[in-house]
Amino acid sequence: MANQLQPVRGTRDLTGEDAARHFHVVETARRVARLYGFSEWQTPIFEDTRVFSRTLGETSDVVTKEMYTFEDRGGDSLTLRPEGTAGVCRALITGGLTQTLPQKVFYAGPMFRYERPQKGRYRQFHQIGVELLGPASPLADAEVISLGWRILNELGIAKDVELHINTLGDAQSRANYRDALVAYFSSHAEKLSEDSKLRLEKNPLRILDSKDDGDKALVEKAPVIYAHLTEEAATFYNGLKSTLTAFGVPFVEDPRIVRGLDYYNHTAFEFVTNALGAQGTVMAGGRYDGLVEQMGGPNVPGIGWGAGIERLSMLIAAPPVMAQPVAVIPMSAEFEGQALEILNLLRNGNIAAETGYSGNAKKRLERANKSGAGFAVLVGAEIKLKNLADGSQEDVTAEMLVKRLGA
Ligand code: ATP
Ligand code: MG
Repeated sequence: MANQLQPVRGTRDLTGEDAARHFHVVETARRVARLYGFSEWQTPIFEDTRVFSRTLGETSDVVTKEMYTFEDRGGDSLTLRPEGTAGVCRALITGGLTQTLPQKVFYAGPMFRYERPQKGRYRQFHQIGVELLGPASPLADAEVISLGWRILNELGIAKDVELHINTLGDAQSRANYRDALVAYFSSHAEKLSEDSKLRLEKNPLRILDSKDDGDKALVEKAPVIYAHLTEEAATFYNGLKSTLTAFGVPFVEDPRIVRGLDYYNHTAFEFVTNALGAQGTVMAGGRYDGLVEQMGGPNVPGIGWGAGIERLSMLIAAPPVMAQPVAVIPMSAEFEGQALEILNLLRNGNIAAETGYSGNAKKRLERANKSGAGFAVLVGAEIKLKNLADGSQEDVTAEMLVKRLGA
């Protein structure tokens, strides 16, 4: 069929078990976020391009290569959101919510990046995420990480992931570290990728996050930040580690974690797995104390993470199949009306029920059996409740049904 339309490269349909996995991840995360006192927000899927271009960093992969940016019919430059944090901070400012801190935000929804599609990497993908805006203490960082850890536990995949934490320090620490990195990478400049030569001038820290194999080999031996931390930054980092331990969250320190976006300071972390090949990061985040101010708001510190739902969905066991609705089947045309009444009665009583729409009773019963329904109500001169698992049947009245089928 030459003119059959195809889904756009890098996009996926969520149907059947894929959908069940996806929504199981979202519902689990939503429930756990509530447990920690987070409320769900939804911000627009497209924003003024500057919401991202001004904040994510002009040398970040996302801004240089991955954004879906277009001009709309009114001539405005819009961008499909590549991540969740910038939009949440924009909403915090434009909604005047900086007056009522802390704000504890959970979100779930689609993100868009122009990347080479492969397993665990799509152009429309989906994230769950949280942002904790207001508090500047490492307790907030530890709580946000602990929330992520609990979600991974409840999804049954904590055993497959490892938490890597690092600090990016404060501005002074990073300036010190930057000098050390420039000295190191300048002495190996000829071996750097073209992208990283540019990064060396604009933002040398970004080289640590390079995916280029040649760069990676150099990064192995690059200096680490710890010796360059100010006393304040070191105290913050120690506070994070001791609070994580108090929360019972296991971690390893990993000086290579810098995160791909420019707005991070102090805490940076990733939950990584070996089970997904190259796409090993399932949940990632950090502290972004300057971001809200940089966007034109007051000075509001923040900490958060985002996690790829597709990657989490691949790691979890198939969620239990939902019980199928009770099948309400008229034994012949003259009982259609009564069957509809019973259908209503069951639904009013909070019992999932459906009817077969067409076909004779035998056909409908076959379909009900195939669908995996547990029960059928056969509506004729008598009403019978049929257990489809063992084939047994009992006489009932319409009035008895809700009680009989209720949990
Ligand atoms: P990666 O290094 O894999 O490109 P990233 O650093 O670009 O990840 P973040 O911006 O931190 O990713 O996004 C947080 C999470 O969102 C990632 O850890 C991953 O689980 C998921 N994610 C990011 N990009 C994609 C994508 N294109 N397809 C599917 N999931 C993605
Ligand atoms: Mg990426």
